[in-house]
Amino acid sequence: MVDEAVDHLDQVRERPVWRPMPDSVRAKFQSALPEDPTPLEQVYNEYRETVGAYPMGNIHPRFWGWYMGSSNFTGALSDFLAAVEGSNLGGGNTGAAQVEQQVVDWLKEIAGFPKNASGTLTSGGSMANLVAHTVIRNLAAGYDVRKEGIAALKAPLRFYASDQVHSCHQKALETLGLGSKALVEVASDNSQRMRLDALEAAIKEDRASGLQPACVIGTAGTTNTGAIDDLTGIADLCEREGIWFHVDGCIGGVLRLARDHAHLVAGIERAGSVAIDPHKWLHTPFEAGAILIKDPDAHFATFEMHGPYLQLQERGMIAGKFLADYGLELSRGFRALKIWMAFKEQGAAKFGRLIAQDIALARYMAEQIEAHPLLELIAPVDLNIVCFRHLASDEDAAKALNTEIMLRIQERGLAVPSDTTVQGKHGLRCAFNNHRTQIEDIDEFLRDVMQIAEEILLEQSE
Ligand SMILES: *Cc1c(COP(=O)(O)O)cnc(C)c1O
Repeated sequence: MVDEAVDHLDQVRERPVWRPMPDSVRAKFQSALPEDPTPLEQVYNEYRETVGAYPMGNIHPRFWGWYMGSSNFTGALSDFLAAVEGSNLGGGNTGAAQVEQQVVDWLKEIAGFPKNASGTLTSGGSMANLVAHTVIRNLAAGYDVRKEGIAALKAPLRFYASDQVHSCHQKALETLGLGSKALVEVASDNSQRMRLDALEAAIKEDRASGLQPACVIGTAGTTNTGAIDDLTGIADLCEREGIWFHVDGCIGGVLRLARDHAHLVAGIERAGSVAIDPHKWLHTPFEAGAILIKDPDAHFATFEMHGPYLQLQERGMIAGKFLADYGLELSRGFRALKIWMAFKEQGAAKFGRLIAQDIALARYMAEQIEAHPLLELIAPVDLNIVCFRHLASDEDAAKALNTEIMLRIQERGLAVPSDTTVQGKHGLRCAFNNHRTQIEDIDEFLRDVMQIAEEILLEQSE
């Protein structure tokens, strides 16, 4: 398995990025629970043919859809070691628990957070943001929400974010019983950054109508276009208004690793909490998210819980910090090891160079598009995400043409871009956070886009 895994990575460039699964293969997943044993070799062969042959393809150098990670082999080996060891990171006096706390400390260092901030690893960014919002809700309520529930809120809470905010924030506020209307989407400007004048006005208006502003969510790298909110401006405003400042740094929370680009997230260190997604720009195999919080007491008070079967001790197996007291999950995998080993092996500076490389690739692609008479950018390229389209006679024709270009490129296994709409303009979207991508991949992709566009337009004129 290990030998073939190495070959698989070696040959990743030679395979199609993605390919659809034939019905004959899909049908194999209908077989009932196996009653009798099968030799492992045979099971592995079945995996190869029906599972391993149809991956998402996100480790391929030409996969740029949505916002995936591209994994790394040391991380894969770490996951293997973690599974063999089998430790449960709910808590316990183990080496694994030390590794997790050290990784959390390193992430604080990266984000510019103080050493005494608390933090925990989560399955991903959605869970990280949910953990933060739970703490923020409980602090803002000013009474024992865990006991009394949200029915006792003196005033409805409001969380502010730009209209580009990730959908997980709405899900989190719905889950917390605050309702989707607790998320106030503030208009963004032409660069997709939250308008601070609109934010200030929304807060003022809400206060006047008896609502309680609880938190402003700044995004360091929006999923749609990579826009970075004015974090310093938001920090100032939150200080003036006495409102919690949370940063969704699922993309840009590690940007300070790239020295030349660190200024883009200036102010992130002033946030009360930040969500980071190592399985994105740190190339960690799925899953790994993280939340850092500057009020360790509030963090602990929100989640601390011990049944009679799980009482802490001063000594022995259960001594030390109980990690599950900082989040929703009790049993937790040893996801810290894959981050820890990769940082040690490669050094943090290399992750910074890879971030800079991705930003350079996005800027290169933007230049090619701007110089092309038939292509246009539909959003400024501030980070590592390029939104663009092939021109067409009108908005509907542009949407139809670009959607068809995207689908043919995906189906032929040439590349995986995704699509989006920015300020009413629909187009294709490429997010670069893949250490295997090279300039030639972008050149070839743009040639494919032009060739397929020509092909579609020719079919339409026939
Ligand atoms: C990806 C992303 C999330 C959600 O993170 P998951 O790891 O997918 O749960 C939240 N916010 C932003 C800005 C993201 O890019």
